[in-house]
Amino acid sequence: MGFSVVDLIRKKRDGQALSAAEIGWLVEGYVAGHIPDYQMSAFLMAVYFRGLDAREMTDLTLAMARSGDTVSFGDDPRTVDKHSTGGVGDKTSLVVVPLVAAAGAVVPKMSGRGLGHTGGTLDKLESIPGFRVSLEPEEFRRCVEEVGAAIVGQTGNLVPADKLIYALRDVTATVDSVGLIASSVMSKKIAGGAKRLVLDVKAGRGAFMPTAAQAEELARAMVDIGRQAGLGVVAVVTAMDQPLGCAVGNALEVAEAIRCLRGHGPSDLEEVALELGAHLLVLAGLSPDPAAARERLLELVRSGQALERFRRMVAAQGGDPRVVDEPGAVLPRAPATADAVAWADGWVAGIDALGVGRLAMRLGAGRERKEDCIDPSVGVVLAAKVGDPVAAGGMLGTVHARTDAEAREAARDLESLYRIIPEPVATPPLILGVVR
Ligand code: URA
Repeated sequence: MGFSVVDLIRKKRDGQALSAAEIGWLVEGYVAGHIPDYQMSAFLMAVYFRGLDAREMTDLTLAMARSGDTVSFGDDPRTVDKHSTGGVGDKTSLVVVPLVAAAGAVVPKMSGRGLGHTGGTLDKLESIPGFRVSLEPEEFRRCVEEVGAAIVGQTGNLVPADKLIYALRDVTATVDSVGLIASSVMSKKIAGGAKRLVLDVKAGRGAFMPTAAQAEELARAMVDIGRQAGLGVVAVVTAMDQPLGCAVGNALEVAEAIRCLRGHGPSDLEEVALELGAHLLVLAGLSPDPAAARERLLELVRSGQALERFRRMVAAQGGDPRVVDEPGAVLPRAPATADAVAWADGWVAGIDALGVGRLAMRLGAGRERKEDCIDPSVGVVLAAKVGDPVAAGGMLGTVHARTDAEAREAARDLESLYRIIPEPVATPPLILGVVR
């Protein structure tokens, strides 16, 4: 059935809901090249201002999910997936995936690369010498069967509609729309074969959604889409006002994830990993409730089984497994470091996550454009987090850079991203809500 693009733009501009057939026609026409960018841009802007209702979001998600190849891992309830909406220092997947695999879950995970101030799991893993994220479908399947987990890049033709629409949103100021983000994320999860999914929806200055209320709205939208599409979904809203953990930068984050799998990670990273992991085990039918799941996960860390699973995953994907025992010797190291120091006695009241993400990006840890190259060794390691007491001249963090001059300049910049006040500051809440 044919429609008029102008009519559909007008309909959305005037606040009306589009039918499933209209949405499907629009997505198909755009992917086929029949609908030009300027009309799709106008439609996206109309969506940005008018929003999508729950039914439209599901229709858009399903239309995008079927725009290219789809993958299936069957209906085994133990097969689970985890997705984060993106943040700074968010290396949670590196911890959660081997952890829940050690508990008996099966995790065929497709991840993304970092863009802008947010890091990407694939870039982090590629800082391990030899680690391959582009596996042939058969190899991906074999790794998942043998190890219980694999983390790879999206295959070539998965959700082409999202690739095209996301690129257009990026240059038309239409990224931060709940309906568009929810359908973008969920279309990729559905096409990637997810049946049981835990979403980590970040809220705060370093996230797409600046407030907890907006993040919760996005979480509800994605859970609704999942329910209507027949998926089991739990969304956890977590704080992203300050970076998660201490390390920001690819190899530095891998080293921190390994410490966390040993049971020596920063408490906020450990808490998010346990929270997400517990929901995954319940969804997979491997634990009766989140409290029992947490106990099981902690035991897997204590016994070394979680770390061992990470080692097996690294080896199966061609990476050097010695990274687990000697991360300092195996991972690339930046040639220069400089410390950021506190300028007053007091307590850390804030660390601008967006600023730290941008700082790491400027050092070379992230990319502004998809085609930019990254340097796996550079980044920042924070020594003080919000709520910590600091003394004048004491360490706030260390910058790892390519040159001494860059390191020194970035260390001064890092200092300016800290807020220190003379009164004690409570550790801020980390888990802001759970949407089922
Ligand atoms: N992540 C996605 O995959 N899509 C969006 O639109 C935003 C974040």
